[in-house]
Amino acid sequence: MECGHYSGMGAGRQLAWVLAVGKVGFSAIRKTCLALPGAQHFIKINAQITQCYPQNMLRRTKRGFSFMLNSRFALYCLPVTPTNFDFHCHSSVSDGLLSPSEVARRAAANGVDLWALTDHDDLGGLAVARAEAEEAGMGFVNGVEISIEWNKAPIHIVGLGFDATHPALVSGLDDLRQGRVERARRMGEALAAIGIPGVYEGALTYAANPSLISRAHFARYLVSIGIAKDVSGVFQHYLTPGKPGYVDHRWATLPDAVGWISAAGGVAVVAHPARYKLLSNGDMRRFLGDFKDLGGRAIEIVCGSHSPDHVLHYARLARHFAFHASRGSDFHGPEESYVDLGRLPQLPEDLKPVWRLIA
Ligand SMILES: [Zn+2]
Ligand SMILES: [Zn+2]
Repeated sequence: MECGHYSGMGAGRQLAWVLAVGKVGFSAIRKTCLALPGAQHFIKINAQITQCYPQNMLRRTKRGFSFMLNSRFALYCLPVTPTNFDFHCHSSVSDGLLSPSEVARRAAANGVDLWALTDHDDLGGLAVARAEAEEAGMGFVNGVEISIEWNKAPIHIVGLGFDATHPALVSGLDDLRQGRVERARRMGEALAAIGIPGVYEGALTYAANPSLISRAHFARYLVSIGIAKDVSGVFQHYLTPGKPGYVDHRWATLPDAVGWISAAGGVAVVAHPARYKLLSNGDMRRFLGDFKDLGGRAIEIVCGSHSPDHVLHYARLARHFAFHASRGSDFHGPEESYVDLGRLPQLPEDLKPVWRLIA
């Protein structure tokens, strides 16, 4: 196999060429391209190759494509060093307000060049998101955000770049979703007991995916019937521990989440670490140690809910634990998010961006 670069592409982008003769596997082509100087992330190879070649020369295998070529062909691919990656956001498959395609188009319009959709406990939006991202010329990485409990504190673990059909991950998430529905029914009963009936049914009308009904859907419904002024008011008075609509729930554990993600070939990332108010500084260090011991490899440094001081603080912890760094808006919808897709500061320069772990 021979390969090289074309020159004169836009900032951060390089077009590579690969000349393959005979039977060549997808992974061999990918390896060759990744070995090219500057090729740190690999996108669009499937789309490019399918465009370049008649279908009968391609054979889809479990791991990608196998090429049966009888003579010399040029294979084009596009390695990209992302300049604006956003690895945390939600669609209506969980508690976001926009459909996966709408989120994809918005990310592309905002200049995101490498994107992950990370719906809560559900992989249902990934196929559509990937197709839409490819259409828009944006790199795409499979994502999910798993809710866990560690020492009684609710924590979110983002998974990136995994095989979305892996049985351990798929069945683990199925169980989690079932638990959510049971909890939502009990929340409805608890609110009825204090004189607010019909909230479970009302919240369901806000959940595009009923199996992912969450407190956010309850909050939106309660705002709509005038129980509180806004979503955060509902949380404060009704849906947090000790308040009448809060129902305890057995979440997945840290070993569950990191284990499922790693088994499926993905990278586990601690989501928005500054948001875990129940954890003291010492707890956070113990948690990060546990996370690392289990195979966790990255933490979110720049994200929608982090102040500049949080960025400095968690950057220090990332260096201490030798974690890679992630960046994500946690976008839920135009009116409900701290920041819009891709509209985030860059990572501190010395940190290793998490996309390097996902080829
Ligand atoms: Zn979260
Ligand atoms: Zn999130």
